[in-house]
Amino acid sequence: MSAHTRLVLDAQALAHNYRVLRSKTAPQTALLGVVKAMAYGSDALFVARTLAQLGIDYLAVAYVPEGIALREAGIHTPILVLHPQLDQLDELWSYCLEPSVYSFRVLQALSARKEQLPIHIKLNTGLNRLGFEREDLAQLGEYLNQSPHLKRTGILSHLAASEDPSQDEYTRGQLAEFTAMSDELAKLTGGFAYKHLCNTSGILRFPEAHFDLVRSGIGLYGYPNDGALEQEFIPFASLYTVISQIHHLKPGNGIGYNRAEVARQPMKIATLPIGHADGISRIYGLGKGGVWINNQWAPIVGNVCMDMIMVNVTDIECAEGDEVVVFDKKHRADQLAEGAGTISYELLTALSRRIKRSYLPLEDFK
Ligand SMILES: *Cc1c(COP(=O)(O)O)cnc(C)c1O
Repeated sequence: MSAHTRLVLDAQALAHNYRVLRSKTAPQTALLGVVKAMAYGSDALFVARTLAQLGIDYLAVAYVPEGIALREAGIHTPILVLHPQLDQLDELWSYCLEPSVYSFRVLQALSARKEQLPIHIKLNTGLNRLGFEREDLAQLGEYLNQSPHLKRTGILSHLAASEDPSQDEYTRGQLAEFTAMSDELAKLTGGFAYKHLCNTSGILRFPEAHFDLVRSGIGLYGYPNDGALEQEFIPFASLYTVISQIHHLKPGNGIGYNRAEVARQPMKIATLPIGHADGISRIYGLGKGGVWINNQWAPIVGNVCMDMIMVNVTDIECAEGDEVVVFDKKHRADQLAEGAGTISYELLTALSRRIKRSYLPLEDFK
């Protein structure tokens, strides 16, 4: 065991989740791995390489520079850029990146050049974040017909609440809207090679909405957003740290900055080398979050500091130098996040570059 804060990334777990997701879709349905935001706070290149080795059909990033980094590292898989910015469009051609085209502004900017470029048309069906509206379709069709260099590779939309059964009617409405809008545009312009709508929860909960391709991020990383399915997936990233020092407090002793908590009785606390600069936000302070030491829950006491937290180990047998689990395959990141009122996505993507990544490779890969 190495004695420092580290995020261990297990390619075997990623491969397992990849196979589970494949098993949930028809053989002809393509799978796209979402590796935006450092592959949900882990390591985009490690994830992209592993997924490419496994045979993933597509990758997606949010912004152009994320795609460039993958290309420069030798990833040849098709890459969809979900939210390209207007000043980054020239690089789409030079790096073979496929934009999600969500507005006439983006479309006009892409039309300024005449070289072939595969594009995906993004439709707004109810998330109200990015995408063309139904009333845009006639004009959009004309525009696409006048721009034959823009290859109609994909048409997509994004679900707003696919994980939430109480919103299933809304989700089915989005599915109907997507079907109607994409049919209408296909009538005006000819079809699209890939029609795609589902994220992880969509894949798992709406098999009727898989179309030609499905997009998974959080599922590949081991969190299906569904208690009933969580045993089928294996968390990809595990975060460990170590006990730097132990203090014995007397009643009245304050803990950390601003004496945000004060010992009411004799207390034993452990100081750990991980703080908000590492991505453990202040929302986990004051007992809302905690860690696992010798398999026992040790809540954070006081405020989260920049580089450290203190945890209550009064009833835990432990010593300086002992390993600490922040989250792992058994003590799940989504539960830690939920306890503090956030979601796995935010906890994972916040993990800063300062945390050392370590890698468990694919074994016996054929
Ligand atoms: C991030 C993102 C996804 C992945 O969602 P998960 O819930 O992580 O599977 C899929 N599609 C779009 C458009 C996204 O922005």
